[in-house]
Amino acid sequence: MLDNYERKINYLRISVTDRCNLRCRYCMPEEGIENLGHSNILSLEQIARFIRVAAQHGIRKVRLTGGEPLVRKNITKLIQMISQIHEIEDISMTTNGVLFPPMAEALKAAGLTRVNFSLDSLQDDQFNYITRRGHLTDVVTAIEKALQIGLSPVKINMVVMRGINEQEILDFVQLAYDRPLHVRFIEFMPIGELPFFQQQRLMSVNEVKDIIDTSYELIPGQVVRGSGPAKCYNIKNGKGTIGFISPMSHYFCAECNRIRLTADGKLRGCLFSNHEIDLKGAFNSPSSEEKLAELFKQAIFEKPQRHHLSEGWGMDNKRKMYQIGG
Ligand code: SAM
Ligand code: SF4
Repeated sequence: MLDNYERKINYLRISVTDRCNLRCRYCMPEEGIENLGHSNILSLEQIARFIRVAAQHGIRKVRLTGGEPLVRKNITKLIQMISQIHEIEDISMTTNGVLFPPMAEALKAAGLTRVNFSLDSLQDDQFNYITRRGHLTDVVTAIEKALQIGLSPVKINMVVMRGINEQEILDFVQLAYDRPLHVRFIEFMPIGELPFFQQQRLMSVNEVKDIIDTSYELIPGQVVRGSGPAKCYNIKNGKGTIGFISPMSHYFCAECNRIRLTADGKLRGCLFSNHEIDLKGAFNSPSSEEKLAELFKQAIFEKPQRHHLSEGWGMDNKRKMYQIGG
């Protein structure tokens, strides 16, 4: 389906839970979050039903995120249900990776096509500082496991924060040089745990690229599958690739092909806008499928042309990243 700005919307990102086993400083408060409660989150059947309707109207790719998608009970079953929807060509996941190793094979067998790991540090102490919990070794094992079982491409998302992890930028590039991994540097955004977001921590992707250019030769590359807004580069003689995602310094809204579903059943056209459409009532309506289709189309028609982060969008967001699905 085309939206009002001629963008083809074919990508649905679903936050399957707002709970998480980590407490990244930029994302969640240390004490965790108030539980949405079982009755307030969409059931697996409701999520699958909505995807079936959305697939009738052009959705071809689905990403499961959260919160941490792997803490959602029966996530493998959900993937199986989605993989039975013929129109869906790609089922991916964004995860912190901690719970991934023992689940990897079952996730792949259920139909998961590829995975993005969020990893902001390759040093134990810094990883512990940023995530407040968890063990770096689990994430490293997860990445190895994903490569080993052929969930391709395997991507690593690093949120670059000045004064926190910018000294590790070249270590992440070296990782992509040595291994067939796709490392993407993401600009820190004013959304989530806002006290941790400080203007001086923001590093533009241009600054990151300047640092990389001192030590590696980057060659503008082909778009890696599912790259969306990332600008991709090959590393001369390297096995993997590098990508830059710059929501703060460059607009990529003109190419935005996505729509989002929150764990409690709200559709959102933009990560940063407060506008939401509630699907909950539609699931219980006698003409449920038609009602869901109507709301899906409404969300697409109401998708904003662009975000307005520089004018304060995100700052007044009642929803956090872990609720909307990063
Ligand atoms: N728990 C999963 C994970 O961490 O991959 C999925 C959900 S998490 C909210 C999705 C992504 O959003 C992660 O890559 C995380 O680094 C990113 N993220 C969260 N808050 C952010 C912020 N303020 N700026 C940039 N990226 C952010
Ligand atoms: Fe959890 Fe992901 Fe947020 Fe970290 S970024 S607290 S792993 S939801």
